[in-house]
Amino acid sequence: MVSEELKNKYEMVIGLEVHAQLKTRTKIFGLEGCKFGCEPNTETGTVTMGLPGVLPVLNKEAVNMAILCGLAFGSKIPERCKFDRKQYFYPDLPKGYQISQYDEPICVGGSIQISNKTIGITRAHLEEDAGKLVHAGADGLFGSAYSLVDLNRAGTPLLEIVSEPDMRTSDEAREYMEQLRSILRYIGVCDGNLEEGSMRCDANISIRPRGQKEFGTRTEIKNVNSFKALQRAIDYEYERQIAIVEEGGKVVQETRLWDDNSGTTNSMRGKEDAHDYRYFPEPDLMPLKISKEWIEEIRKKMPELPAQRIERYKSLGLSQYDADVITAQMELAYFLDKVTDEGVNPKTATNFLMGEVNAFLKEEKINIEESKLSVENFVKLMKLLESGKISNNIAKGLVVEILKTGKDAEKLVEEKGLSVISDEGAILEIVKRVIEANPDNVAAYKSGRDKLFGFFVGQVMKETKGRANPQTVNELLKKELS
Ligand code: ADP
Ligand code: MG
Repeated sequence: MVSEELKNKYEMVIGLEVHAQLKTRTKIFGLEGCKFGCEPNTETGTVTMGLPGVLPVLNKEAVNMAILCGLAFGSKIPERCKFDRKQYFYPDLPKGYQISQYDEPICVGGSIQISNKTIGITRAHLEEDAGKLVHAGADGLFGSAYSLVDLNRAGTPLLEIVSEPDMRTSDEAREYMEQLRSILRYIGVCDGNLEEGSMRCDANISIRPRGQKEFGTRTEIKNVNSFKALQRAIDYEYERQIAIVEEGGKVVQETRLWDDNSGTTNSMRGKEDAHDYRYFPEPDLMPLKISKEWIEEIRKKMPELPAQRIERYKSLGLSQYDADVITAQMELAYFLDKVTDEGVNPKTATNFLMGEVNAFLKEEKINIEESKLSVENFVKLMKLLESGKISNNIAKGLVVEILKTGKDAEKLVEEKGLSVISDEGAILEIVKRVIEANPDNVAAYKSGRDKLFGFFVGQVMKETKGRANPQTVNELLKKELS
């Protein structure tokens, strides 16, 4: 553990490289599908495997998605970009090179807003993913007996989004990643599932004495597959580098792997420089020309972005906090929109979604689409409430029951006799009974203890199991007690 004093001495600098898997139907240069979780090597083909004589053909859907991302980040989409070969030898990359983009990427510049600052985006480029190695068997020389190659993921389109080194704390890095994920999900190009690897992040970290302009030497941390891991890895690396520098050592530029179990980063390999990859223009693909008209076509299809959604919710009367939380959960936001389309008051619906519903979903670790609460049934419940047929408390109980059972709101109210009692005669009877049963409190109230009024209301509600119309109860009690 490094002291607070040392943390005050050194500032951290963070830049993130995020790989987002684009949700295209087929691969970036081949015709196979790219669904997650298929039988190994069933979603791969000749182009992806790099068999002799085959030629890559660029998937237009992947280009459209990359342009949409660029527009969402406010990037410049140059008129021309091109593809390059990046040479690797990995068993899960049978071609021996990855088709990527180097000096002419599809998106240049742009930014993402987080709460306290704007994080610059350097560039975003298209590339193909590699396959996966599955290490099997337990007692081999290097920990596993043998490794299997699964090429299903190979050739899946990736957009690598490179940030400027603009972040200074792990909180900022997390927030940037969350905002980026939210944008990618709302524009429909990536499902943003960190655990399944459809969004992956390399964190570049360095330290420098506060006040110093020049950046220190960075390390690159791989293998972080949750928001929590990202923050832990960054904080760990910050302290590790401070300790090295304080002991008079030098941080080595290298790639390190995060180990979530031990909570440490460990050296994986020295960091290659760009020239090590021997990039050269991909001879099998023409440079890509993107016309103004093409860009404008895509711009027309831009869905509402998260920041716009938050503003819209605020204009409907939601607080900043509620608008933020709902927007951060895309399924919940879509649900709210459908419910308000049916004429339900947005604030009423939000109270329930932010309260009972959200608590239930968190507890069960599911999203609202996976719950038993349908839009139609929730609308029924809200209409029962808005029309005064049931009380707020009854509705809160019912929404939880519906989340668990999926039962119809109207039927539940009928079966359980939960509708509000508005019949004055019936309520008056109960009011009189309560007054008779509590002579002492009546006397105290009459001699000036006004606060006891709430006690009488509570008693009447208890007798009616919360079903009495509160306004009628108030009126009748006032009359009978005066
Ligand atoms: P490479 O592929 O070699 O990692 P990239 O240009 O793709 O290079 O990405 C470099 C990333 O590292 C960027 O996100 C950038 O902001 C970040 N970065 C560069 N220099 C530093 C530094 N000194 N400290 C922290 N992050 C850095
Ligand atoms: Mg990189």
